[in-house]
Amino acid sequence: MDRRERLEKVILQADVYMACIQHALSTEHFEVMGMLLGVSQDSIATIMSLVIMRRSDKKKDRVEISSLQQCAAATEAEKLAEKLNLPVRVLGWYHSHPHITVCPSHVDVGTQAMHQQMDSKFFGLIFSVFSEEKDSKTQEVQLTCFQSFNQEAIEIPLEISYTLNISADCLQTMASLPKILVQEEEELAEARKDHHDILASVYNNAVLTKSLAHITDMVTRPLMQTLTDRILLNKLRSLHLRKTKRELEEKFSSQF
Ligand code: ZN
Repeated sequence: MDRRERLEKVILQADVYMACIQHALSTEHFEVMGMLLGVSQDSIATIMSLVIMRRSDKKKDRVEISSLQQCAAATEAEKLAEKLNLPVRVLGWYHSHPHITVCPSHVDVGTQAMHQQMDSKFFGLIFSVFSEEKDSKTQEVQLTCFQSFNQEAIEIPLEISYTLNISADCLQTMASLPKILVQEEEELAEARKDHHDILASVYNNAVLTKSLAHITDMVTRPLMQTLTDRILLNKLRSLHLRKTKRELEEKFSSQF
Protein backbone atom coordinates (compact mmCIF):
# COMPACT_ATOMS: atom_id res chain seq x y z
CA MET A 1 0.00 0.00 0.00
CA ASP A 2 1.10 3.55 -0.74
CA ARG A 3 2.63 5.10 2.38
CA ARG A 4 0.50 8.22 2.01
CA GLU A 5 -2.63 6.11 2.20
CA ARG A 6 -1.65 4.55 5.49
CA LEU A 7 -2.98 5.85 8.77
CA GLU A 8 -0.05 6.58 11.09
CA LYS A 9 -1.69 7.72 14.28
CA VAL A 10 -5.03 8.51 15.90
CA ILE A 11 -5.38 11.37 18.38
CA LEU A 12 -8.47 10.98 20.54
CA GLN A 13 -9.60 14.05 22.48
CA ALA A 14 -10.12 13.32 26.18
CA ASP A 15 -13.75 14.52 26.13
CA VAL A 16 -14.58 12.10 23.29
CA TYR A 17 -12.78 9.33 25.21
CA MET A 18 -14.95 10.15 28.25
CA ALA A 19 -18.16 9.96 26.20
CA CYS A 20 -17.09 6.64 24.58
CA ILE A 21 -16.31 5.13 28.01
CA GLN A 22 -19.67 6.31 29.33
CA HIS A 23 -21.39 4.60 26.40
CA ALA A 24 -19.31 1.40 26.69
CA LEU A 25 -20.05 1.12 30.42
CA SER A 26 -23.80 1.64 29.95
CA THR A 27 -24.43 -2.07 29.47
CA GLU A 28 -22.53 -5.25 30.24
CA HIS A 29 -24.93 -7.49 28.33
CA PHE A 30 -24.61 -6.13 24.81
CA GLU A 31 -21.98 -4.58 22.60
CA VAL A 32 -22.57 -0.91 21.86
CA MET A 33 -21.15 1.16 19.03
CA GLY A 34 -20.80 4.58 17.50
CA MET A 35 -19.03 6.60 14.85
CA LEU A 36 -16.03 8.88 15.40
CA LEU A 37 -15.88 12.33 13.80
CA GLY A 38 -12.84 14.51 13.28
CA VAL A 39 -10.24 15.86 10.90
CA SER A 40 -7.47 14.04 9.10
CA GLN A 41 -4.16 15.57 8.11
CA ASP A 42 -0.80 14.05 7.11
CA SER A 43 -2.07 10.53 7.92
CA ILE A 44 -3.00 11.57 11.46
CA ALA A 45 -6.66 11.45 12.47
CA THR A 46 -7.80 13.80 15.25
CA ILE A 47 -11.13 12.79 16.78
CA MET A 48 -13.26 15.64 18.07
CA SER A 49 -16.73 14.20 18.37
CA LEU A 50 -18.82 11.05 18.28
CA VAL A 51 -22.26 9.86 17.25
CA ILE A 52 -23.87 7.14 19.35
CA MET A 53 -25.51 4.48 17.19
CA ARG A 54 -28.84 3.12 18.25
CA ARG A 55 -28.81 -0.65 18.11
CA SER A 56 -31.09 -1.96 15.42
CA ASP A 57 -30.52 -5.52 16.53
CA LYS A 58 -29.78 -6.66 20.06
CA LYS A 59 -27.43 -9.59 19.94
CA LYS A 60 -24.95 -10.28 22.66
CA ASP A 61 -21.80 -10.38 20.59
CA ARG A 62 -22.63 -8.45 17.48
CA VAL A 63 -23.23 -4.88 16.57
CA GLU A 64 -25.20 -4.07 13.48
CA ILE A 65 -25.71 -0.59 12.20
CA SER A 66 -28.29 0.41 9.66
CA SER A 67 -27.23 2.48 6.64
CA LEU A 68 -29.77 5.08 7.80
CA GLN A 69 -27.77 5.61 10.96
CA GLN A 70 -24.52 5.81 9.00
CA CYS A 71 -26.10 8.58 6.94
CA ALA A 72 -27.12 10.31 10.18
CA ALA A 73 -23.46 10.24 11.31
CA ALA A 74 -22.35 11.79 8.00
CA THR A 75 -24.98 14.54 8.38
CA GLU A 76 -23.76 15.18 11.92
CA ALA A 77 -20.19 15.51 10.58
CA GLU A 78 -21.37 18.05 8.00
CA LYS A 79 -23.07 20.12 10.69
CA LEU A 80 -19.95 20.08 12.86
CA ALA A 81 -17.78 21.01 9.85
CA GLU A 82 -19.91 24.07 9.29
CA LYS A 83 -19.91 25.02 12.97
CA LEU A 84 -16.14 24.66 13.43
CA ASN A 85 -15.21 25.68 9.89
CA LEU A 86 -13.05 22.57 9.61
CA PRO A 87 -13.19 19.62 7.18
CA VAL A 88 -14.83 17.32 9.76
CA ARG A 89 -15.96 13.90 8.54
CA VAL A 90 -16.59 10.37 9.80
CA LEU A 91 -13.10 8.90 10.32
CA GLY A 92 -13.72 5.75 12.33
CA TRP A 93 -15.98 3.66 14.51
CA TYR A 94 -15.88 2.31 18.05
CA HIS A 95 -17.57 -0.55 19.82
CA SER A 96 -17.47 -2.24 23.19
CA HIS A 97 -16.40 -5.76 24.21
CA PRO A 98 -18.13 -6.38 27.54
CA HIS A 99 -16.51 -9.27 29.46
CA ILE A 100 -14.25 -10.18 26.53
CA THR A 101 -10.71 -9.30 25.49
CA VAL A 102 -9.91 -6.18 23.54
CA CYS A 103 -8.72 -8.16 20.46
CA PRO A 104 -10.79 -7.58 17.29
CA SER A 105 -12.86 -10.64 16.32
CA HIS A 106 -12.86 -11.95 12.74
CA VAL A 107 -16.24 -10.22 12.28
CA ASP A 108 -14.66 -6.93 13.45
CA VAL A 109 -11.76 -7.35 11.02
CA GLY A 110 -14.24 -8.06 8.21
CA THR A 111 -16.39 -5.01 9.05
CA GLN A 112 -13.26 -2.88 9.29
CA ALA A 113 -11.98 -4.12 5.90
CA MET A 114 -15.34 -3.23 4.33
CA HIS A 115 -15.11 0.34 5.64
CA GLN A 116 -11.48 0.61 4.51
CA GLN A 117 -12.48 -0.19 0.95
CA MET A 118 -14.28 3.14 0.90
CA ASP A 119 -11.73 5.06 2.96
CA SER A 120 -8.23 3.59 3.38
CA LYS A 121 -7.62 5.62 6.54
CA PHE A 122 -10.79 4.51 8.31
CA PHE A 123 -10.00 2.90 11.71
CA GLY A 124 -11.70 1.10 14.57
CA LEU A 125 -11.51 1.47 18.35
CA ILE A 126 -12.49 -1.31 20.74
CA PHE A 127 -13.18 -0.75 24.43
CA SER A 128 -12.94 -3.91 26.51
CA VAL A 129 -15.03 -3.30 29.64
CA PHE A 130 -16.25 -5.18 32.73
CA SER A 131 -13.08 -7.27 32.89
CA GLU A 132 -11.06 -7.89 36.02
CA GLU A 133 -7.36 -7.28 36.39
CA LYS A 134 -5.84 -10.72 37.20
CA ASP A 135 -3.87 -9.83 40.35
CA SER A 136 -5.74 -6.98 41.99
CA LYS A 137 -9.24 -8.11 40.87
CA THR A 138 -10.10 -4.50 40.08
CA GLN A 139 -12.17 -3.54 37.06
CA GLU A 140 -10.11 -2.50 34.08
CA VAL A 141 -10.82 -0.86 30.76
CA GLN A 142 -8.67 -1.72 27.76
CA LEU A 143 -8.62 0.14 24.51
CA THR A 144 -7.19 -0.73 21.13
CA CYS A 145 -7.04 1.10 17.82
CA PHE A 146 -6.84 -1.04 14.70
CA GLN A 147 -7.04 -1.32 10.95
CA SER A 148 -7.41 -4.39 8.79
CA PHE A 149 -4.72 -5.65 6.39
CA ASN A 150 -4.91 -8.96 4.55
CA GLN A 151 -7.75 -10.10 6.81
CA GLU A 152 -5.74 -9.44 9.94
CA ALA A 153 -5.95 -6.66 12.51
CA ILE A 154 -2.95 -4.40 12.92
CA GLU A 155 -2.63 -1.99 15.81
CA ILE A 156 -2.51 1.75 15.08
CA PRO A 157 -0.77 4.09 17.57
CA LEU A 158 -3.33 5.96 19.68
CA GLU A 159 -2.86 9.11 21.75
CA ILE A 160 -5.45 10.57 24.13
CA SER A 161 -5.04 14.33 24.14
CA TYR A 162 -5.96 16.57 27.06
CA THR A 163 -8.86 18.97 26.59
CA LEU A 164 -9.51 21.81 29.00
CA ASN A 165 -13.28 21.64 28.54
CA ILE A 166 -15.88 19.09 27.56
CA SER A 167 -17.03 20.38 24.18
CA ALA A 168 -20.71 21.32 23.84
CA ASP A 169 -21.01 18.57 21.26
CA CYS A 170 -19.66 15.82 23.52
CA LEU A 171 -21.74 17.06 26.42
CA GLN A 172 -24.85 16.89 24.28
CA THR A 173 -23.97 13.34 23.18
CA MET A 174 -23.43 12.24 26.78
CA ALA A 175 -26.72 13.79 27.83
CA SER A 176 -28.55 12.09 24.96
CA LEU A 177 -27.36 8.58 25.91
CA PRO A 178 -30.08 7.84 28.51
CA LYS A 179 -32.72 8.96 25.99
CA ILE A 180 -31.33 6.63 23.30
CA LEU A 181 -31.19 3.68 25.72
CA VAL A 182 -34.80 4.31 26.81
CA GLN A 183 -35.89 4.44 23.15
CA GLU A 184 -34.21 1.08 22.48
CA GLU A 185 -35.99 -0.54 25.43
CA GLU A 186 -39.35 0.95 24.46
CA GLU A 187 -38.99 -0.27 20.88
CA LEU A 188 -38.15 -3.73 22.15
CA ALA A 189 -41.20 -3.65 24.46
CA GLU A 190 -43.45 -2.38 21.65
CA ALA A 191 -42.79 -5.55 19.67
CA ARG A 192 -44.02 -7.65 22.60
CA LYS A 193 -46.99 -5.44 23.48
CA ASP A 194 -50.54 -6.73 24.04
CA HIS A 195 -49.65 -10.35 24.60
CA HIS A 196 -52.83 -12.45 24.78
CA ASP A 197 -51.60 -14.18 27.93
CA ILE A 198 -52.13 -11.84 30.90
CA LEU A 199 -49.21 -13.30 32.87
CA ALA A 200 -46.85 -12.87 29.92
CA SER A 201 -48.07 -9.30 29.54
CA VAL A 202 -47.43 -8.54 33.24
CA TYR A 203 -44.01 -10.14 32.95
CA ASN A 204 -43.09 -8.09 29.85
CA ASN A 205 -44.14 -4.87 31.57
CA ALA A 206 -42.06 -5.76 34.60
CA VAL A 207 -39.02 -6.40 32.37
CA LEU A 208 -39.45 -2.97 30.77
CA THR A 209 -39.77 -1.25 34.17
CA LYS A 210 -36.65 -3.04 35.41
CA SER A 211 -34.69 -1.97 32.30
CA LEU A 212 -35.77 1.66 32.65
CA ALA A 213 -34.84 1.67 36.35
CA HIS A 214 -31.47 0.18 35.42
CA ILE A 215 -30.81 3.01 32.91
CA THR A 216 -31.67 5.62 35.56
CA ASP A 217 -29.48 3.93 38.12
CA MET A 218 -26.46 3.10 35.94
CA VAL A 219 -26.41 5.97 33.44
CA THR A 220 -28.58 8.97 34.31
CA ARG A 221 -27.81 9.22 38.03
CA PRO A 222 -23.98 8.88 37.74
CA LEU A 223 -24.01 11.37 34.84
CA MET A 224 -25.97 13.92 36.90
CA GLN A 225 -23.60 13.36 39.83
CA THR A 226 -20.48 13.82 37.66
CA LEU A 227 -21.81 17.00 36.09
CA THR A 228 -22.97 18.42 39.45
CA ASP A 229 -19.50 17.73 40.92
CA ARG A 230 -17.92 19.39 37.91
CA ILE A 231 -20.02 22.54 38.35
CA LEU A 232 -19.03 22.69 42.05
CA LEU A 233 -15.35 22.26 41.15
CA ASN A 234 -15.58 24.93 38.46
CA LYS A 235 -17.23 27.34 40.93
CA LEU A 236 -14.44 26.70 43.45
CA ARG A 237 -11.82 27.27 40.76
CA SER A 238 -13.53 30.45 39.67
CA LEU A 239 -13.59 31.73 43.29
CA HIS A 240 -9.90 30.94 43.69
CA LEU A 241 -8.99 32.69 40.43
CA ARG A 242 -11.02 35.78 41.35
CA LYS A 243 -9.27 35.92 44.73
CA THR A 244 -5.84 35.63 43.09
CA LYS A 245 -6.80 38.33 40.60
CA ARG A 246 -7.88 40.68 43.40
CA GLU A 247 -4.64 40.08 45.32
CA LEU A 248 -2.56 40.76 42.24
CA GLU A 249 -4.52 43.94 41.48
CA GLU A 250 -3.99 45.19 45.05
CA LYS A 251 -0.27 44.44 44.87
CA PHE A 252 -0.06 46.21 41.55
CA SER A 253 -1.94 49.34 42.70
CA SER A 254 0.11 49.62 45.93
CA GLN A 255 3.29 49.85 43.87
CA PHE A 256 2.20 53.04 42.17
ZN1 ZN B 1 -15.93 -6.71 18.35
